[in-house]
Amino acid sequence: MQRLGDSIFLSASDLVGHLNCRHLTSLDLAVVNGELERPAIWDPLLQILWERGARHEQGFVEHPRSQGLSVTIIDGVGVDDESVERTRSAMVAGDEIIVQGAFRANGWLGRTDVLRRIEAESDLGAWSYEVIDTKLARETKGGTVLQLCLYADLVGTIQGGCPTHSYVVAPWSGYEPQMYRMDDYATYFRRVKSSLVAAIEHAGEVIYPEPKEHCDICRWQSRCDRKRREDDYLSLVAGITKVHIDELKRHGIETMTDLAAMPVPLPWRPSRGA
Ligand code: SF4
Repeated sequence: MQRLGDSIFLSASDLVGHLNCRHLTSLDLAVVNGELERPAIWDPLLQILWERGARHEQGFVEHPRSQGLSVTIIDGVGVDDESVERTRSAMVAGDEIIVQGAFRANGWLGRTDVLRRIEAESDLGAWSYEVIDTKLARETKGGTVLQLCLYADLVGTIQGGCPTHSYVVAPWSGYEPQMYRMDDYATYFRRVKSSLVAAIEHAGEVIYPEPKEHCDICRWQSRCDRKRREDDYLSLVAGITKVHIDELKRHGIETMTDLAAMPVPLPWRPSRGA
């Protein structure tokens, strides 16, 4: 998420973050609005994964080079006017492989791992580009597909139409890209995208930091954990699930203290389970 003047630009990680946790979206929004500091975290495991990912991407970039294709690298970090213009120029010139292409359009921005020229007509001429993303995971996750959809959309703003297919290169594949047909995921992409945009537009809605799988790798972990402890929240009970919490709340039991004082046997029957 990035503020430029009065506008907020969203990225693929905002999309994936929103898919995992709506509370995360509200915290990231508070950062771009200057109401919160982004927490600095350093996790050695995430660092190792990041380094492995960078090596895998570098290996894939060397692959077309070894086949005699020319590779254009858009230097720099983040998305700024210069990197966007350099990407556009490389696409207009018809460069064969473009690495770290930078895009910003219609409230969205991002950097693509690799763009590959194909001989299919577009506004650029007799050629157009497809998106290839390198990933460490053995199975492609929903978040990766969303990322591909967003990048295909952004590429479409330059070449006048989305590529039909996008690709993921996994480490075990011998650099053979797995193909995804973008139309197959268009409805899913539109749905998550409009949910994120609505969350930004209706900022202020209170969303509790319910624990979820994504908390393990989330930069807001300490803050959310502190909040739950301050609230004596039911999620701190060992083995409890959201179904249990919702059931207890329906009976006015909101905290661990309430739960400790709950009479047993229960004066009511759970609507689900025993
Ligand atoms: S730590 Fe968990 S609850 Fe908090 S923002 Fe991250 S994913 Fe959401």
